[in-house]
Amino acid sequence: MSEKIITLLGSTGSIGEQALDVARMHGYRINALTASKNTDIIEKQAREFKPVKVAMADEAAAADLKIKLADTDIKVLSGVDGVSECAADNSQAIVLNSIVGMAGLVPTLSAVDAGCKIALANKETLVAGGQLVMNRAKEKGVDILPVDSEHSAIFQALQGMNDKKELKRLILTASGGPFFGKTKAELADVTVAQALKHPNWSMGAKITIDSASMMNKGLELIEAVWLFDVNPKNVDIVVHRQSIVHSLIEFVDNSVIAQLGVPDMRIPIQYALTYPQRFESPVKQLRLEEWQTLTFDKPDYDTFECINLCRSAIEQGGLCTAAVNSANEMANELFREGKIGFLDIARLVSGALDNCKRVDTYSLNDVLETDIWAREYVRLSI
Ligand code: NDP
Repeated sequence: MSEKIITLLGSTGSIGEQALDVARMHGYRINALTASKNTDIIEKQAREFKPVKVAMADEAAAADLKIKLADTDIKVLSGVDGVSECAADNSQAIVLNSIVGMAGLVPTLSAVDAGCKIALANKETLVAGGQLVMNRAKEKGVDILPVDSEHSAIFQALQGMNDKKELKRLILTASGGPFFGKTKAELADVTVAQALKHPNWSMGAKITIDSASMMNKGLELIEAVWLFDVNPKNVDIVVHRQSIVHSLIEFVDNSVIAQLGVPDMRIPIQYALTYPQRFESPVKQLRLEEWQTLTFDKPDYDTFECINLCRSAIEQGGLCTAAVNSANEMANELFREGKIGFLDIARLVSGALDNCKRVDTYSLNDVLETDIWAREYVRLSI
């Protein structure tokens, strides 16, 4: 087997560090690493994995890293262009995109243009620009493999499918986050610290807040529509508190196939990198007898409105999902900064959805303009 080469975008984050764990275990070669500001961690990673290039999205951080790595041959790049140059650097590499937010969109497109296989954790890439990315990937014959655990589960379950016509429904599981069972009134005063306490997963701050608002499940619904080319009406959501069943697919004969495992992102990360093969993993074995009870509930759509907003956005199509995504990124940040309340997130996203431009097709420029518009809309609406 030829050597596996990985370009890792967002290497200093939660997924990035777990991806390097997988790379370390299997001895994968790292071609490039990128981050935004965290020069301490990326310096250590660069010294260990010796990539050809590294990039920091933040210019000042790039200047700092250049000094830190001055005794090495590693080329240090900066800004969005530097991150994109890393993404497109080696067409033989699998580009694992674990950047947070729609900042991952342009580097994803650069990697697709370079003909690289993509392992996608950065769901915002598809939420903001799904039409662009999937069309471009089709043109270039590039595979986009899911890293998100739910989409990896669906992808794994689909491996046995004979004909797409036989598929009836995708069922995404949701942990329900820290606020499962709470009423809207109870959510009015929740704190950032409470929202950051996810029951099952240890993740970056943005996705943890998205899980608390269940925006994450809405974003995943949109991601599923693009990845698996299905009608949003055929994507359902079920709350499963234990995060053992990672998602399911249902066929026309009502047979259901699920993928299970302990909640550890190194399984879907590794599968995206090794597909269609499987290798041993450091992840703990699932022993169902230790769990005894697995529960399944209907989501509370009245309380967790963000799911409906995402469903409405993908049904309307065009730039609606980009507007919802960017409004959420801004609102999520403002909530973490203590500038808005938890319930304001859905209110602001809803306003952006109501007021965004309606179009059928769009360019990258349209998505970038929508991003600026939606952030501004949120800032002016608080
Ligand atoms: P983290 O916040 O932990 O890490 C984000 C990474 O992106 C960091 O390396 C960060 O660099 C980098 N980054 C931040 N802003 C920019 C920018 N403007 N340009 C380039 N790079 C940037 O996030 P997670 O690892 O939790 O999540 C990453 C993605 O994976 C998200 O899209 C998330 O939804 C998805 N995902 C995450 C899961 C998880 O378990 N964490 C599960 C499933 C999906 P720096 O450290 O320097 O700021």
